[in-house]
Amino acid sequence: MNPVAAGQLRSATTPGSRPVSWAATGRFGGVSADPFESLNLSTTVGDLQDAVIENQVRAAHLVGVSRYNVLDAKHGSQVALVSAGGIAHECDGAVTTTPGLALMVLAADCVPIVLADQTNGVIAVAHCGWRGLVAGIVDATIDLMQANGADKIQAITGPAICVSCYPVQQDCVTQLEAGLPTGIVSSIIKMSNDQRFVDVRAGVHAQLEAHGIHPSAILECTMENPALFSYRRDGRTGRQAMVIAL
Ligand SMILES: [Zn+2]
Repeated sequence: MNPVAAGQLRSATTPGSRPVSWAATGRFGGVSADPFESLNLSTTVGDLQDAVIENQVRAAHLVGVSRYNVLDAKHGSQVALVSAGGIAHECDGAVTTTPGLALMVLAADCVPIVLADQTNGVIAVAHCGWRGLVAGIVDATIDLMQANGADKIQAITGPAICVSCYPVQQDCVTQLEAGLPTGIVSSIIKMSNDQRFVDVRAGVHAQLEAHGIHPSAILECTMENPALFSYRRDGRTGRQAMVIAL
């Protein structure tokens, strides 16, 4: 199975330290049948459990491990500190300091994020849509990383719906305006033909930058790229992942 993207994060200050492996999956290379064809990683979208487990094991192998913990995201700001395989229930973020344990964040338009301070051995994943921007999941994830010893964090945002593909209702705009600093709101809401669009990735990046973190991005649009799952495009469909392990 070929990931959409994969790589290693290395420390700028201690080049000899062990790099952290990460990967972003697409929709191909798994065993699920239509409409989850084929690398669906979510057990909560109606796919066969055995197929999803096989797919999750394949995704974890991309970062060289067999144990993994999967986010069960709810568009909130709860973050779990995990040290064993399983599911982080109702959490949009997870942090670990345990080597050999992959963290997996699922998405199909929202922004998946992997974060790492490999010098101090702290990694995290987070899931952020427009509700997550307001809820503060990026801040909450960084807070828990720092509470566990992280101080030089790198981050990568994965495949997500782009601003041009993401028109929103007034309710979304109202909540963003109420919950975010004016500078961020004005930079992520675009107007076109009397329709408002939201750039969630830009919001995530602004919130990371506020912590001095300069993220890199996998600039693939889930809705435009048929090799990715997109909830907005397909409705009943699977979820791809970003995966990271110490
Ligand atoms: Zn797009």
